[in-house]
This record gives sequence, C-alpha cells and structure tokens, in this order.
Amino acid sequence: MTSQNKIPLTIISGDGIGPEITAALVEVFDALGSPFALEYSAMGMAAYHEHGNPLPMVTQESLSRTRLAIKGPVQTPIINGFASPLVRLRNQFKLFANIRPTRTLVPEIGRGLVDMVIIRENTEGLYAAAECYFPVGGDPRGKAVATASNSRSSCIRILRYAFEHAIRYKRRKVTVVHKANVLKILSGIFLEAAKELYQNGYSGQFELEEMIVDACAMKMVMTPNHFDVIVTTNMFGDILSDLAAGLVGGLGLAPGANIGDDAALFEAIHGSAPDIAGKGIANPVALMLSGAMLLDFVNRPELAFRLRSAIDKTLNHDCIRTPDIGGSATCNRLTSAIVKHIISPI
Ligand code: NAD
Repeated sequence: MTSQNKIPLTIISGDGIGPEITAALVEVFDALGSPFALEYSAMGMAAYHEHGNPLPMVTQESLSRTRLAIKGPVQTPIINGFASPLVRLRNQFKLFANIRPTRTLVPEIGRGLVDMVIIRENTEGLYAAAECYFPVGGDPRGKAVATASNSRSSCIRILRYAFEHAIRYKRRKVTVVHKANVLKILSGIFLEAAKELYQNGYSGQFELEEMIVDACAMKMVMTPNHFDVIVTTNMFGDILSDLAAGLVGGLGLAPGANIGDDAALFEAIHGSAPDIAGKGIANPVALMLSGAMLLDFVNRPELAFRLRSAIDKTLNHDCIRTPDIGGSATCNRLTSAIVKHIISPI
C-alpha cells in the first residue's frame, strides 16, 4: 500500500500507561505493514497541560477529518468547567454504540469459557452528566442532583444495532438489561422499545430475554456462559463490561469500539492505570485487540487475524504475560514477542 492510499487515522496516546501501550500498538501495526497514515493528537491531562484543554481543537479537527481514531486511556481532569473529554467526543461525533467483546484468551486464568459482547448506549442516560447542587439549610451544596434521559429514538437505534450485530455474527441470544422495576420510565422506555422492535421485524431470528441489572451482575459471575449479546443503557453497560473483563483475566485483555454513523473511535476499556504508569509493566493486549477490531472495521480481516493469532501464540504458547495476568514480562518484552509472531508465524 503506498503512502497516498493509506487510511488516515487519528491516534491519541493519552495519559498514564497510554503512551507506553500506544507505542506498542504502533509497533505491531508496523509489523503488519500498517494500512494507516497516523495523525498524532492529544487528549486528557497531557493535552490539558499542553493546550489548556483536555480536548483541544486540533484533536477535534483531526477527528473531523479522519472520522477514525484509536486512543490510549485518558485521565479525566477533575476540574470544574471541564466535562469528560471522552464523553464530549462520543457526543460530538455521535458515537452511539459502544461495543465491548469479552472472550476467554488464556483459559487457565478465566472463569470458564466466556464469549459475550456487551453493546452499550453511549450518549444518553446518567452520563449526559447534567448535574447541579441545590442549597439545603445553610449549605449551598446541600443536595447533589443529576438528570438522566433516554430518548425512544436513541433506544431504538442502539437496540437495532445490537439486533443486527446478533444476526450478522450468528449469535443465539440477546439479553436486554434494565432496571425498569424501579426506574419505570427512564429504564422502562428501553425495555418497551426492545420488545416492540423485536416483535416488529426480529422475532424468531434469535432469542430475546430481559434481565434486571442487579440479577444480571450476579448471573454473569455465577454462569457467565449464559450470556451471548447483552444490550443495555450507558452506565449499566460501563459497569457490566468491567465485570465481564474481570471474568477473563482483567482490564488488560478487554478491547472496545465506539461506533457512529460516520465516525468510529477504538480504545481499550481500561483507564490510565496511574498505579503502574512508568513502571513498564502495562498490558498492551487490550489496546492491540481494539486495534484488531479497527482492522476488521476497515475491512482488513486478514491483518486482524494475524494480530489476534500472534497475541494468542505469545500468551498461550510462549506463556509470555504481563504481571496483571500472572506473568513477569514487561510491556516491551510482550510486544517484541507478538511482533516476532507477526513477522514469522509458526
Ligand atoms: P484503571 O482502569 O485505570 O485501573 C484499574 C486497575 O486495573 C488498576 O489496578 C490498574 O493498574 C489495572 N489496569 C488497567 N489497565 C491495565 C493494563 N492495561 N495493564 C495492567 N493493568 C491494568 O481505572 P481507574 O484507576 O479507576 O482510573 C484511572 C483514570 O483513568 C481515571 O482518571 C479515570 O477517569 C480514567 N479512565 C479513562 C478511561 C478511558 O480513557 N477510556 C476509562 C476508564 C477510566
């Protein structure tokens, strides 16, 4: 592929372990003969220090141009006046679907064989972060209030995405996760939309079940292979996908994608891991698997396959693993081994 017809890709290193795992991702992309022309951009605390804004205009302009990005984790500045830059990006580029697959990669460290995908509504619910204080007595911040909203159109949009995903990937069941027993309107509209949509066009193509979020959390731990596709609202999906990651060995193995009608952003689901930043022991696999999802997305499944099988051989054949999954390898050591398997597959 010549440099002219490479696919423009915005790449954001992020904070904490972000630069280390993003460099590892670029190494494996290079070994694959990357189809991307990279545009480096900043976001998060690093961007705040450099540009005075955790989501600088240059980064927004880059994504407006490329409509395609991959990012390392960013630390959310807890600074009044700055909304989460990631939430802003998801809203600005209407990245309404968050896809978080969870699959057993290293059988001996998971809880049985798990293969589920959580599809989360990404733009509504409580994460709209419409918050304020009300005075109570003499305390001007005596009560904290957050307003959540779910629109019928957004519910239908994410449900349709999940149903189409189930059909495309021959999944047997979709579980609609809600809390409509308590939040009868806010969560009820999601459940109601799911039942209506299923009846009007999807009935019989896969099994549809509904589950209350707390029961779902328990069942995911007790019998994870009960689940196939889960579709749910913003905050429930965020929490359940971390739980799911824990079932297969932790956040270092959990990839994700944020998809909209005309833009997409790929990222691991974990944060900037400040507790291990700078120690050289971050696990780059979650971001690399997000890279594999990106390669599938741009219609290069053969490259995605080579990347996934190099990761599999490194983790399971060579048993080279970072400390979060019971090994002692550094990020660099793991990355070199993956690159070796990409270049000369055995
Ligand atoms: P975290 O995901 O950063 O870390 C949780 C635990 O998992 C830590 O012990 C960490 O060491 C471990 N961990 C995470 N990723 C790992 C990896 N790749 N390899 C090895 N160990 C890994 O969660 P946190 O500590 O609650 O959040 C830290 C910061 O990240 C916060 O500022 C938060 O807002 C931000 N955050 C960003 C994103 C994102 O950019 N998508 C997502 C979640 C949290």
